[in-house]
Amino acid sequence: MIPHSDPNDGPGTMKLIEELTTNAGQVQQQVLKEILTGNANTEYLHGFLNGETDRSLFRRRVPIVDYDRVKPYIERIANGEPSDIISSKPIVELLTSSGTSGGQPKMMPSTEEDLDRKTFMYNLLIPVMNQYVDGLDRGKGMYLLFIKPEISTPSGLTARPVLTSYYKSRHFRDRPFNRFNVYTSPDETILCADSKQSMYCQLLCGLAQRSDVLRVGAVFASAFLRALKFLEDHWEELCSDIRTGTVSEWIADPSCRDATQRVLQQPNPDLAASIAKECAKEPWEGIVKRLWPRTKYIDVIVTGSMAQYIPLLEFYGGGLPLVSTMYASSECYFGINLRPLDLPGDVSYTLLPNMCYYEFIKVEKNEEEERDEALECNGDGNIENNENSNNNNNNNNNNDIKNNTKVVDLVDVEEGCYYELVVTTFTGLYRYRVGDILMVTGFHNAAPQFRFVHRRNVVLSVDTDKTSEEDLLNAVASAKLLLRPLGCLLTEYTSYADTSSIPGHYVLFWEIKSSAAADLSNLDRTVMEDCCMAVEAQLDSVYRRCRTRDRSIGPLEIRVVRPGTFDALMDFCLLQGSSVNQYKTPRCIKSKEAIGILEEKVEGRFFSRNSPHWEPLTMERRVV
Ligand code: AMP
Repeated sequence: MIPHSDPNDGPGTMKLIEELTTNAGQVQQQVLKEILTGNANTEYLHGFLNGETDRSLFRRRVPIVDYDRVKPYIERIANGEPSDIISSKPIVELLTSSGTSGGQPKMMPSTEEDLDRKTFMYNLLIPVMNQYVDGLDRGKGMYLLFIKPEISTPSGLTARPVLTSYYKSRHFRDRPFNRFNVYTSPDETILCADSKQSMYCQLLCGLAQRSDVLRVGAVFASAFLRALKFLEDHWEELCSDIRTGTVSEWIADPSCRDATQRVLQQPNPDLAASIAKECAKEPWEGIVKRLWPRTKYIDVIVTGSMAQYIPLLEFYGGGLPLVSTMYASSECYFGINLRPLDLPGDVSYTLLPNMCYYEFIKVEKNEEEERDEALECNGDGNIENNENSNNNNNNNNNNDIKNNTKVVDLVDVEEGCYYELVVTTFTGLYRYRVGDILMVTGFHNAAPQFRFVHRRNVVLSVDTDKTSEEDLLNAVASAKLLLRPLGCLLTEYTSYADTSSIPGHYVLFWEIKSSAAADLSNLDRTVMEDCCMAVEAQLDSVYRRCRTRDRSIGPLEIRVVRPGTFDALMDFCLLQGSSVNQYKTPRCIKSKEAIGILEEKVEGRFFSRNSPHWEPLTMERRVV
């Protein structure tokens, strides 16, 4: 039941969106019926429903689950058992998500038809955008898109990130208007496995066609900013290639090289000189507008954890609108932004009722409001007194659903309320907790619109990494042991993601108590750097991959603060309204003022010397 969406037919597409959103309730019921009827005999559903397909039985008997409940089934499929343990349609690949379980990326099932569903959603984006921005058909889009390595499971299934799967599919190759060269990056440059060559060639093609470019973008804000940093480091070489009309020697991937060469065509010294003139001007404020002067907007996701990049994007973008078009995940694509020119803080996504069956776990508003405050005061007190808090935390990380928790359907959510998203997909996930907290901002016809609030249990994120408070606690707990030989103890810590420069990096503030003999003002640099590395070694595999392979996160930094600094932080929190009795040191800080308080008292700054160990996921280690 995938409706046909034709991106060439603006009125038809807008009518389709109106129909889907007007009939959201009915469409959801049909979706659930189709999923239950089609999959009633899968081992998973049969175990709960005994072949029945009744909606109320489904809601009574099928549990709401986290990844750990699904993981054994996924692993069985990865090991060669038939797909029908969870899905009547064949699982053709596994999509590696940026969420982790047991330190390794989660893997989501996908079917052939899933790509059609994704294509359906991508096809809606252009007609929606055309409602707000005129003349996009009179030029090109510079989209910087990348693939990542993939692996094969013991049963021969491919496991790879969702976007790699999509970019390698015929759906991407045949995407609307692609054959009319409306994108500056030839497919070969996007499909180049070497990310540096891919980046270089895509920028080269984007610069070579700068006068045609009407929109620029990447998927997430962090990737677009990395491209700008790469440009900052390579613009002279890029200009030289444009000047001579030849692609640099080190671009060795043959199809990427040939495709780029076809775009360059011939020497263009005038173009090279005008690009070089802009790039040589410091600061780089408004560089996007200066290099691509016809650009109307920057198409990157800036909601959720990506909001931290808005100031940098505004700086480089010189006032260009930042457009977050869609909300999606490896589990399923969910929704689109029907008012793409809204300011980032006002962006809401309309969940499309035909993509999957949605349910919503109500989250208490005051929990969210507390979290929304400038400081996230959800730490566990003094780490030295909390050697056992790992277990406590793991058992108490807000994962359990209380019996009386309210779970509602898509059309029954209430404006102003917060919910955790639960999905039942066409690909074998049933009542699965995605882990995102959303707030209802209004309705488009009968379909609710949601602001992305945050991801459950994530305190730090720079790129696709998602570090929870527990992950951080574990990592700090093992690193602090290195202080003991110095006669020092870690008494307090907190953290923030420093994204003021690219790539961003994790910063930990440490307050250290020394024995009489130790000299805090002269801490052993090597030991402190070892502490940075020990923290990184303990963080999960997505963090380590971003650090080591993708280089999208910079070296972790520990800033040692003067004794008494965390008392000053507590005073600040109390002034902001925290209660004395309930005060807990926040383990992650967002407020600039609070960071400023800590920053004033920094005595030493230490960075990881090396990237942490990371190796690609190997299925052999994962299988049961
Ligand atoms: P992955 O499974 O690695 O594809 O990551 C999917 C997750 O990325 C979602 O569950 C969200 O937490 C986050 N995400 C995706 N799209 C958006 C968006 N438009 N705004 C905020 N967060 C998003």
